[in-house]
Amino acid sequence: SQASRRSTHCLSIICLFQLSLGYGSEVDWFSLSAVILLLCTAPFLVFFFVMVCDQYQCSVSQPLVELYSGEATLRSIWDKAPSFTWTAAQIYTVWVSFQLVLYMCVPDVTHKFLPGYAGGVQDGARTPAGLINKYEINGLQSWLITHALWYANAQYFHWFSPTIIFDNWIPLLWCTNILGYAVSTFAFVKAYLFPTNAEDCKFTGNVFYNYMMGIEFNPRIGKWFDFKLFFNGRPGIVAWTLINLSYAAKQQELYGYVTNSMILVNVLQAIYVLDFFWNEAWYLKTIDICHDHFGWYLGWGDCVWLPFLYTLQGLYLVYNPVQLSTAHAAAVLLLGLVGYYVFRSTNHQKDLFRRTEGKCSVWGKKPTFIECAYRSGDGGLHHSKLMTSGFWGVARHLNYTGDLMGSLAYCAACGFGHIHPYFYIVYMTILLVHRCVRDEHRCSSKYGKDWKRYTDAVPYRLLPGIF
Ligand code: NDP
Repeated sequence: SQASRRSTHCLSIICLFQLSLGYGSEVDWFSLSAVILLLCTAPFLVFFFVMVCDQYQCSVSQPLVELYSGEATLRSIWDKAPSFTWTAAQIYTVWVSFQLVLYMCVPDVTHKFLPGYAGGVQDGARTPAGLINKYEINGLQSWLITHALWYANAQYFHWFSPTIIFDNWIPLLWCTNILGYAVSTFAFVKAYLFPTNAEDCKFTGNVFYNYMMGIEFNPRIGKWFDFKLFFNGRPGIVAWTLINLSYAAKQQELYGYVTNSMILVNVLQAIYVLDFFWNEAWYLKTIDICHDHFGWYLGWGDCVWLPFLYTLQGLYLVYNPVQLSTAHAAAVLLLGLVGYYVFRSTNHQKDLFRRTEGKCSVWGKKPTFIECAYRSGDGGLHHSKLMTSGFWGVARHLNYTGDLMGSLAYCAACGFGHIHPYFYIVYMTILLVHRCVRDEHRCSSKYGKDWKRYTDAVPYRLLPGIF
């Protein structure tokens, strides 16, 4: 992917933005435009999707029609939106601090009594500079403690209302933005002034690109505070299931019942979230941790984009309490579960295959594979294997296909009244297709002709026979 971001030409538009940072390599104009466009529009996109629920019952077209006809102005829409409040700031500060305490101060004990769960101190993948970082994997424990407290509060203590998140949703958006920008900016400055490991920094020579895609690979404060692990998993993903519970509580408060669609969204997304924490050690080996650098894309994305846009279905259902027919609900459940099965089994097959170096059984047989050779940055020759059987023989990224099936199920749980909840599947499709392309570009540069042999053996990416 690094190679894809570089261009052999110094286009004039890029030269305009280049700062001479000393390590310069150029960024192609397409990547640069995408970066600037995203930096400028993503915060407004998040605001738009939350605001349309608050002001227009989640109709995406209504504000555009009103703007076009002059009935509304950007100013009137902005004025109607709740602004920053100190209550939201307090809630968010308590939330992030609590997750920080759980992350830093409560070493994992769950792996001692949960069979098959890999928690506690675990090794990450080898970084380009050859380091292997250690991580304290305690996300599942943090999730369990947080949800036990949430439950205890709802049932016994009543310190706060279970609708607290929904009731402060837009003010919380401003708070998450403050943290998202603060973290990204801090990571950016830190990379220049006091990087954790200077050899793992990547400077493209373009300041926007550096800010957005990150410079440091694994920024840390002290020995254990790892930016990627903390911001990737908590506070956003732990919050995901609480946000959904808050939406369900709001439905109960407003209508006196919780719809089957809301239950479906809560259950399917909870499976996904729990899967993430159960496999947190495995996530250390995924692209986010293994290849991406920590910048605005991960920092702001984890703080703002994820909690607000991954939970749009529940938000929509508060304003539009859809009750699904039994057949529709069963179809959504089936799609969600099959998607999850494909997603998890595909990831599991590769993990097992790589861990055992092919000495394992996949679908009852010894896996087939292609032997590959590649050279690392220091010129050393290494060997690897690409599996060509099991789900990895059907298509090259069926884990993404399974993920997309699950995402579609969340959207379909909202019925077909509005396009608002379908934003998620559109976004996930763009994210995973783009990820697939950049991963394959990286693999192609890494493995060369061996990658070609692999793509000849497994010709499709996501959908056999189609793509
Ligand atoms: P993968 O787990 O698919 O990892 C890709 C890497 O696996 C490649 O770079 C290559 O690495 C190796 N590989 C590729 N083909 C083979 C093969 N045939 N046999 C063995 N190894 C192979 O990608 P991600 O890390 O992107 O995704 C992990 C999961 O996370 C996915 O299921 C994805 O859906 C999910 N995800 C979800 C997101 C969300 O927002 N909900 C966001 C991102 C990911 P190597 O260089 O080691 O050979």
